[in-house]
Amino acid sequence: MTDIDELHNKILYLEDRLNKINESQQQKQQHQSKKESHIFDKCECPTCHKTFANKYVLKTHIEQRHPKNERTRFECQHCHKAFLSPYYLKYHLERLHPETKKDEN
Ligand SMILES: [Zn+2]
Ligand SMILES: [Zn+2]
Repeated sequence: MTDIDELHNKILYLEDRLNKINESQQQKQQHQSKKESHIFDKCECPTCHKTFANKYVLKTHIEQRHPKNERTRFECQHCHKAFLSPYYLKYHLERLHPETKKDEN
């Protein structure tokens, strides 16, 4: 084997490796872009347009940051403040609107 043959073999080997690396990177990128578009479709907050890793995180975000969106049944009828649970609302009514509490029933 001459030096040139050896060099040629080396180049072929390197080209082959390079092609394989490119292929795997392309597959990775396609996979990532598919995953990202899925996130943007499903897990964007309709109120502040923040995006989240999954729908459970988004749900938690909405409950904590925009409780009015989903929890209108726990909204105070007097000042329209929204609460995460009926217990908070009850406490709020007792504290801030004690005079109207009797009419609630
Ligand atoms: Zn939000
Ligand atoms: Zn109130």
